[in-house]
Amino acid sequence: MSAHAAQQTVSQIQKDQKVLKEHRKNGRKTGRLKWQGAGEFRSVAYQSEGFNVNHTTGHDFGTLTLSKIGEIPIRAHRDLPNTENIKRAILKKERTGAWFACFVVEVESPAKPDSEDIDSADCIGVDLGVLSYIHTSEDLSVECLHLESEYDQYVREQRALDRTEHGSENWENQRQNVARAKRQIRWKVLDFQHKLSTWLVKAYDVVAVEDLDVKSMLETSQSAKNKQDAAWSRFLDMLEYKGELHGTHVVRVDARGTTKECNQCGVETSKPLWVREHSCPACGHTEDRDLNAAKNILDRGLNKLSLQVGPGRSESTPVQTVLPAFAHHSGRMDAKHVVEAGSPAA
Ligand SMILES: [Zn+2]
Repeated sequence: MSAHAAQQTVSQIQKDQKVLKEHRKNGRKTGRLKWQGAGEFRSVAYQSEGFNVNHTTGHDFGTLTLSKIGEIPIRAHRDLPNTENIKRAILKKERTGAWFACFVVEVESPAKPDSEDIDSADCIGVDLGVLSYIHTSEDLSVECLHLESEYDQYVREQRALDRTEHGSENWENQRQNVARAKRQIRWKVLDFQHKLSTWLVKAYDVVAVEDLDVKSMLETSQSAKNKQDAAWSRFLDMLEYKGELHGTHVVRVDARGTTKECNQCGVETSKPLWVREHSCPACGHTEDRDLNAAKNILDRGLNKLSLQVGPGRSESTPVQTVLPAFAHHSGRMDAKHVVEAGSPAA
């Protein structure tokens, strides 16, 4: 390791200690920093003096040159930035044994469209589903990912690890197999969320989405809640940062009552979770429960942005998107179409 990278690590440790001290000062209980052995240490950061990136012939391949280490061939997941634009390079070792190089780059955010320039057809409301992953105000429902076979694989590898003698060479190999099976699940979920969130911010100028906390308290059972919460809150974070990257308004709205409220007349009717259709006793309006909720979320989002909600907006506009895989599946869509859509996870 170069002296420079070692310094980075030392300053990171100091920063961590400072944070812990702050916490203690505010009366919070903290643990202590733990010593990491050489085998456990998994990431190291380089500031701009310590590295160089070389592009080779415009393909996905390049080399990363690190002081004291030398040239390392890398495979890029997206276009390699010029060295002078990279603020930091971080080398990271995953539990599977694979190494990653992460580049921290500053980018300009494009301006978001002014309210008078936004067409109502370019606005969408997104209901986070109970049965589906999302349901949009254009009546597109995307199902949750099926991960049964990935979880089966993970359980099998874990069992095999339990049968291996702890600390042996076989054990270390099998530990990596477990880590790989776990990574497979993580990557599949991430890939799904990246594609879905990228599509939304690219296809629309306004994406209104329910804020998570309220809904999960109201509707999800405690047992399944934490896992699903983590997945959704990451999805919302993705939407927000991608909104900045693509110049799209991403608005979180209070989702309280969005399933009860009639999108046509505003009268509230409570219905238990298993009643999948909204049927309004006041105005007779009938439609899918999640579609009605998504439309309410869109209205609230537009209100929050102080955009005028034109009459007839509640009539569904046909799904026209940049991504053909989505357009062909207006109505119910299986999650695997999202995975197969093949847009880069940007
Ligand atoms: Zn009504």
